[in-house]
Amino acid sequence: MEERDFDVIVVGAGCAGAVAAYVAAKQGKTTLLIDRGEYAGAKNMTGGRMYAHALKKVIAKYEGEDFDWENDNPFERKITHERLCLLDPQSAVTFDHSSDNLRKPTSDSYSVLATTLDQWLCDKAEEAGAELIFGIPVEELVKDESGAIIGIRAGEDTFTCHAVILAEGQNALLAERSLGVPRTKDNQMAVGIKEVFELDSKTIEDRFLCPEGEGAAMLFVGDCTHGVVGGGFLYTNKTSISLGLVATIKELSESDTTIYQAFDDFKKHPAVAPIIRGAKMVEHSGHMVAEGGYNSIPETCYDGCLIAGDAANLCMNLGYQVRGLDFATATGQFAAEAVCAAIDAEDVSKAGLASYKVAMDSSFVTQDMRTFKDWPSTMEHWESMFTDYPKMLGEIFDCLFVVDGKPQEHLVKRLMPIIKKRGLFKTGKEIMKAVKSL
Ligand SMILES: Cc1cc2nc3c(=O)[nH]c(=O)nc-3n(C[C@H](O)[C@H](O)[C@H](O)COP(=O)(O)OP(=O)(O)OC[C@H]3O[C@@H](n4cnc5c(N)ncnc54)[C@H](O)[C@@H]3O)c2cc1C
Repeated sequence: MEERDFDVIVVGAGCAGAVAAYVAAKQGKTTLLIDRGEYAGAKNMTGGRMYAHALKKVIAKYEGEDFDWENDNPFERKITHERLCLLDPQSAVTFDHSSDNLRKPTSDSYSVLATTLDQWLCDKAEEAGAELIFGIPVEELVKDESGAIIGIRAGEDTFTCHAVILAEGQNALLAERSLGVPRTKDNQMAVGIKEVFELDSKTIEDRFLCPEGEGAAMLFVGDCTHGVVGGGFLYTNKTSISLGLVATIKELSESDTTIYQAFDDFKKHPAVAPIIRGAKMVEHSGHMVAEGGYNSIPETCYDGCLIAGDAANLCMNLGYQVRGLDFATATGQFAAEAVCAAIDAEDVSKAGLASYKVAMDSSFVTQDMRTFKDWPSTMEHWESMFTDYPKMLGEIFDCLFVVDGKPQEHLVKRLMPIIKKRGLFKTGKEIMKAVKSL
């Protein structure tokens, strides 16, 4: 093959890009990882919780099964407590689940902070031999006369390579500009806003009833977004709490609320305020989130170039699960492995890189995205999930727990008027439709 500056150039040092650079370097390829942020994670703001399966697999493959996770990891707390909370201005109904299955090494998940996670992954890429450049945005992908990608242009510099892995995250401007990937529609995009509150570890464990070192994840639906499609999230870190909101851009633009107002009110809600009481806010950030699901995944394979992670809209918000990091990790690995095999076979054309799509399609990545493909449109047309249902649940639970000394009727007699208000048939139909798409 023709001489190039690098075998592989990876654009974006988030989870997908850092893993891709790590794998390519581990396979002995000369690798450049370039990011516009001043340091790893500077531009990222995952919520967040990482389902660890994909990261564990790639590390086990390249570092060995006996990798010392105990002493070398990017994790904050193992999540062993799950809470789902439906919020109405006057009430909060919370489901609280804890289980030994959440502790198993095969299905464990951890709260993470973007900077720590991305830095840890970038360190692994650098140790493996990748060259890292921070603080320079890539402006375009360089093509040869046939239109195949052969490098990048960043500022004054042009670097050539055999293949580019594009892992630029959401709002993928390079993919749009250089590969013609259509811009994601505004009903498939959400805006996320997050604050980190410092709190000592014992207070966190006491407030969430967690054993030492373990933590909780909490997702909120309803009044937190003022009825707009979206939700709230909370993750306990070692000595801080990540609290945030996500709301779809189209709905927000049509509503008379702003995400900042909703977030302010969310923090004051009686179900949230005591959790962050006395905590100092130390970080505030905002970011786009892909919410379009399977139907919004673009073409990911081009002559000389693959797209991985959020740049390919590989993110999923089911209301009870938020996933993007495990998709980013796995696709970063698959992309690098496909590129390395294609370079070895001296064919980095779209056909030569096709093993990327095969790996994606035969893994949880495509399969999970496809399974839940109808969920984004179900959510989009189910406004009552964010308004009427939290209110109805609040009223139902009031029936169970409020005792005021007046003679009580049987529970069914008290519950039926509440359910009839929404319509028994309509409620059943809506719930069945949602359950089918989940
Ligand atoms: C509010 C919020 C909460 C979330 N919560 C969770 C969660 O709890 N669990 C979960 O699994 N996922 C969560 N996600 C999704 C998750 O953060 C993403 O799926 C994941 O970070 C995607 O990784 P990535 O590497 O593809 O992209 P990113 O992490 O976005 O990284 C992209 C990188 O590319 C760089 N870049 C962009 N353009 C250029 C350019 N032109 N030149 C050079 N560099 C460039 C950026 O600086 C950035 O570092 C959440 C997302 C948000 C916004």
